[in-house]
Amino acid sequence: MDFLDTLRRIVGNAHVLHGEGLEAYEADWRKRYRGRSLAVVRPGSTAEVAAVVRACADQGVPVVPQGGNTGLVGGGVPDDSGRQVLLQLGRLHTIRAVDVDNLTLTAEAGCILQVVQQAAAEHDLLFPLSLAAEGSCSIGGNLATNAGGTQVLRYGNARELCLGLEVVTPQGEVWDGLHGLRKNNTGYDLRDLYIGSEGTLGVITAATLKLFPRPAAVVTALAACPSVDAAVALLNRARARLGAGLTGFELMERFALSLVEKHYPHMPRPLPSAPWTVLLELAGTEDEATERGRMESLLGWALESALVDDAVVAESIAQSRALWHLRESIPLAQSEEGLNIKHDIALPVSAIPGFVAAMPARIAQVAPGARVVCFGHLGDGNLHYNVQAPEGVPAPPFLAAHEDALNALVYDEVQRLGGSISAEHGIGQLKREDLQARGHPVGLQLMRAVKAALDPSGLMNPGRVV
Ligand code: FAD
Repeated sequence: MDFLDTLRRIVGNAHVLHGEGLEAYEADWRKRYRGRSLAVVRPGSTAEVAAVVRACADQGVPVVPQGGNTGLVGGGVPDDSGRQVLLQLGRLHTIRAVDVDNLTLTAEAGCILQVVQQAAAEHDLLFPLSLAAEGSCSIGGNLATNAGGTQVLRYGNARELCLGLEVVTPQGEVWDGLHGLRKNNTGYDLRDLYIGSEGTLGVITAATLKLFPRPAAVVTALAACPSVDAAVALLNRARARLGAGLTGFELMERFALSLVEKHYPHMPRPLPSAPWTVLLELAGTEDEATERGRMESLLGWALESALVDDAVVAESIAQSRALWHLRESIPLAQSEEGLNIKHDIALPVSAIPGFVAAMPARIAQVAPGARVVCFGHLGDGNLHYNVQAPEGVPAPPFLAAHEDALNALVYDEVQRLGGSISAEHGIGQLKREDLQARGHPVGLQLMRAVKAALDPSGLMNPGRVV
């Protein structure tokens, strides 16, 4: 039987897509990578995923898992060989269970993150993972990339939010590691191995996730800071005063916000002239007025201490959403401006002011006129330090001429400061060479050994990560 017929027999005719018009699956979100698959296959159950993977393993056909296709490192799209099966998990979208007393929710991998958040909210509970792509990205993709987002400061990244996993191995077996246990010391932690493996070790089909009580009140504020040093001092004070109530601390440089203004002129900008703007979020257990008072007192102290030049505290849920919307529009605005050179870096928070002060002059030497788009999750030491072509210069020749040199410049400094070249987006194909060149040799050897042990035929998302 023809291989495509075998796949059709497993998932049904309608769920094997083949031929033209598959760009939505075959090109990545940034339109930087565009491949061609043998077929896009959309299984509807774990058993169908296992059968498809087994069929591929039998025929030596590589498999590329894909969720919402919002990844930013080209990990979820096929290469251009036309030989890879793109395993699209969107039909695995059932919330299997919510255990209110255990504070857990079990969701299939293709569930959209926002749907998981809503399912928790229906039980007056919180699933705190939150990122600008939450209306499209899937829980499987979030776990496969160990996504971060805006609430890591308080709740951790996707890894910390997951208790159990169900995974289809590269041989097409199902590992049932779904459980809602907070304690389970029974040998190697396979869950932790699969989280962040970007589809290279198996296919996540379901996950049991941690839920939390919803905060009684959430207060959002925007503060204008004269410098990154001031923003770091504010962060430290906010941690001391607000404790675990501090759930978000986002940093935005003036140019990043000016791109939002340029591409979305209707969006209000409460503090237009600040060199650095910080978005703070406090989620507390006391009533609205008390939590608001805590935020106002923090900002009052910061104004007196000249750490902040001006600040606004959202007066309503709508205003709070508008402040977050401003922050979340930066990735979209920069992509409207054109493809740029992305650096999703992690640094010790203490090293960030020096890094941010030193880099622009060095970048200007390599690429005169290049524009830095700097924003990120300062509370987690995670900056999106992206470099955009000079005004009026098209992105493709700029990237071709400067990407390698600018990557080397930024990553050399990141390494010197003890940081990481990928804080939350992963490695995919974009950073694979950089990881090979910069990763610790023993660590890389161990990663290759894990890959060879779990996927000896190398069919699971080949050419990604290792
Ligand atoms: P995909 O893009 O489909 O896949 C990503 C990787 O995971 C690929 O390697 C793929 O093979 C693998 N994969 C997908 N599903 C599975 C599965 N079920 N089993 C095994 N492997 C799988 N990321 C952050 O961490 N923080 C942010 O704040 C953030 N903000 C973003 C904002 C915007 C506007 C956009 C477009 C992206 C943002 N991202 C962010 C990146 C992206 O949204 C996350 O990486 C997300 O977790 C990817 O989920 P996805 O379902 O779209 O995965």
